[in-house]
Amino acid sequence: MKVSSFCLLSATLAVASAAVLPRQQLANVYTSCAVEGSVALTFDDGPYIWNKEIVDTLNDAGAKGTFFVNGYNYACIYDDDSITRLQYALASGHQVASHTWNHGHLPTYTQDQLQTQFSLTNDALLKTCGILPAFFRPPYGEYSDLVREVAAQYGLGLVNWDTDSGDSVGATVEQSEGVYTDLANRHPSTILVLNHETYQTTAEQVLPFALDALKKAGYTNFVTVAECLGMEPYQQKTQPGSRDDTWTCAGTPAPGS
Ligand SMILES: [Zn+2]
Repeated sequence: MKVSSFCLLSATLAVASAAVLPRQQLANVYTSCAVEGSVALTFDDGPYIWNKEIVDTLNDAGAKGTFFVNGYNYACIYDDDSITRLQYALASGHQVASHTWNHGHLPTYTQDQLQTQFSLTNDALLKTCGILPAFFRPPYGEYSDLVREVAAQYGLGLVNWDTDSGDSVGATVEQSEGVYTDLANRHPSTILVLNHETYQTTAEQVLPFALDALKKAGYTNFVTVAECLGMEPYQQKTQPGSRDDTWTCAGTPAPGS
């Protein structure tokens, strides 16, 4: 009797929770800015050692950038250095968004694995920086409907790009600068560029060149992705937490796996 009551209760609960679950939507995909004249420079794969130099260069130029960061890639997001970098970028008004936990190929993942990617990264950003991001960028720009569905469960919009500086796929400094020269000459009404904060040449050569070339071409509105879309950057903003035993990359999916 007890067993059957339990089963009935379980069945009732199962039906009830299914009934109250919202129908899952697909995360919106953004590949270009919406605000006329806006330029969004984005930097992936950090937080890493060139982060502060990039932030300082942007600050000196009166520009804002967006950092799509991993939990566990070039460094662990819970390292003191990583937290310092992220908090410095945020304090300067730049946007921090998710680039997933360990930079894998999302379309090859199961729903559970995708949930792990988004929850670990969102949790880490909330704990270390007090932000719950509203945007993510899939590694390699790769996504599927399942990726979009799970991202939507975590309140994340998907941001790719309309221009690739090529720094992560073997472009020389001259070639990356050529990408920006071409943008300056073509003068599109909005610009959303993919760069990577993990290259010294991007930080010290390409970025200063890009800011100069685009300013000379008449662009003045160098903003975050959220600003260029006219949206909020974070689902939640609060105070960072205090370090405890959960602030670790140990036991989580390893970089690139
Ligand atoms: Zn990446």
